[in-house]
Amino acid sequence: EPVTMPELLARQAKRIPKSDAMLYMGKHITYEELDYLAGRFAAGMAALGVGRGDRVAVALPNTPQTVIAHFGLWRLGAVPVACNPLYTDAEMEHQFKLAGVGAAVALDLLCPRLLALRAKTDLRLLVCCHINDYLPFPLRQLYPLLKRQMYRRYERQAGYWPFMEVIANAPGAHTGPPPKWDDLALIPFTGGTTGVSKGVMITHANASSIVQILRAWFFDLASQPGSELGVFPIFHISGFTGVLNTCVINGWSNILVPKPEPATALQMIIKYRPDLVPAVPTLYVGIMAQPEFAKADLSFVKGFFSGAAPLAVDTIHDLKAATGGDIMEVYGMTESCALITATPWRGKLKPGSVGVPLPNTDVKLVDMEDGKTIVPVGEPGEIAFRGPQMCAGYYNMPAETAHAIRDGWFHTGDVAKMDEDGFLFIVDRTKDMIVASGFNIYPREIDEVLFEHPAVLEACAVGVPDDYRGETVKAFVVLNRGMKATPEELDQWCRQRLTPYKAPKLYEFVESLPKSAVGKILRRELRDREWAKSG
Ligand code: ATP
Ligand code: MG
Repeated sequence: EPVTMPELLARQAKRIPKSDAMLYMGKHITYEELDYLAGRFAAGMAALGVGRGDRVAVALPNTPQTVIAHFGLWRLGAVPVACNPLYTDAEMEHQFKLAGVGAAVALDLLCPRLLALRAKTDLRLLVCCHINDYLPFPLRQLYPLLKRQMYRRYERQAGYWPFMEVIANAPGAHTGPPPKWDDLALIPFTGGTTGVSKGVMITHANASSIVQILRAWFFDLASQPGSELGVFPIFHISGFTGVLNTCVINGWSNILVPKPEPATALQMIIKYRPDLVPAVPTLYVGIMAQPEFAKADLSFVKGFFSGAAPLAVDTIHDLKAATGGDIMEVYGMTESCALITATPWRGKLKPGSVGVPLPNTDVKLVDMEDGKTIVPVGEPGEIAFRGPQMCAGYYNMPAETAHAIRDGWFHTGDVAKMDEDGFLFIVDRTKDMIVASGFNIYPREIDEVLFEHPAVLEACAVGVPDDYRGETVKAFVVLNRGMKATPEELDQWCRQRLTPYKAPKLYEFVESLPKSAVGKILRRELRDREWAKSG
């Protein structure tokens, strides 16, 4: 159904006005209030000169302002540019220039740095939010509070507008035409896991279609009133689709967690009992390592959804053993609005598989050399997909777009195998492949084997330079607290479980592995470090 997200929110505000849309620091914000605040934010931003098609950076952790900003900007037809608040100045500058960002809504801590960007980019308007901003409800309380100059601490002379003031000063709710189905809805940046990150053009059609597909996928749950742990950062595509928009289309309460840390996440789960807990695999591992986890009864959680990075089979078993719940695994990417495949809901589970293509989504595995020929069942091939969630391309990068989207199919750069039942098993990324003595080695398989070792908390294998073999496998290993293992033991473990040429030749024990903002292990960083050492 061609209904955009802001229209869907307006529907919820009529259908379930008094239901909670968000829960934040003990405060409840209803659907009626969210829609009203979004409308005012839109009008406030319009009064400050933001209009249709304008790109507005949103650099916030998960807070009510993040949700209001997206829906408010959409009411205006403006395009949020998803920014991780932990980006460096250079990253922000690069992305602002690339996307032509003219305004930003940002965490106040970032504002002084963003002000400096005004000289180097087109940034003109800066709206700042404080993570602890008390959103005063009911709304009529907003005005007296402002009159008391509660927000004086934000010196407006410094050149930025307090978020709450934009809302308070708005002449009324915005009443322009809603964005069109094919208009841009978001410019997120790819994770930069394999190289420099690219801006992706997500349309309203993409954003709305994917949550409609997902809703159909687990309709028995989605059609009930419910709540969800909003721990997946909304600035990441998985949080955008899986938290921000999933909650709104289902009319659920979004339990916002600004800091995606295992300890906080577990506390919030215990306190607010969400029905759905989507997260990255590393967060599940972290949650299970918490001392309180053993005592907690989490049987009320109806679904754990893991996405964005490989989920170890071990983690699936541990979580099942501890909670009785299954982890559904999803696979997708920024360019697919987060989702391409998923574990069949209440269907057959195949641990290690990312499931089957979602409804309306076609997937094929093609030969890695020619990019066309479909590989036989059980053979590795590059995943290509098409469906309503396929992005319109990369922003201002026509060559990259033409390389990725060919004949209407998006080529993902991920290698997978498909079994007779049509289940997909991700092998690895084409770019992570290690070539040792002419053998293709997929490091993920090695990570998995190491991960199964009782003393190993995390592992990451990379190809390092080797005069004789070209590349050889080195494993970085983080041990469980208080546990020991020697390289000899790990070597023996690997040799019993892997073909000999895949077993790491080198081991390095480290305190932690480099991770991206969403918690993906940055294999590239480890590899680059090793290659830099050898000159
Ligand atoms: P860049 O494209 O800039 O290198 P990135 O690909 O990490 O960064 P994202 O779009 O955030 O940026 O991530 C998508 C990628 O994450 C997929 O292409 C795939 O490699 C990996 N991925 C996502 N879900 C899964 C999963 N369930 N199992 C294994 N890998 C996954
Ligand atoms: Mg990618």
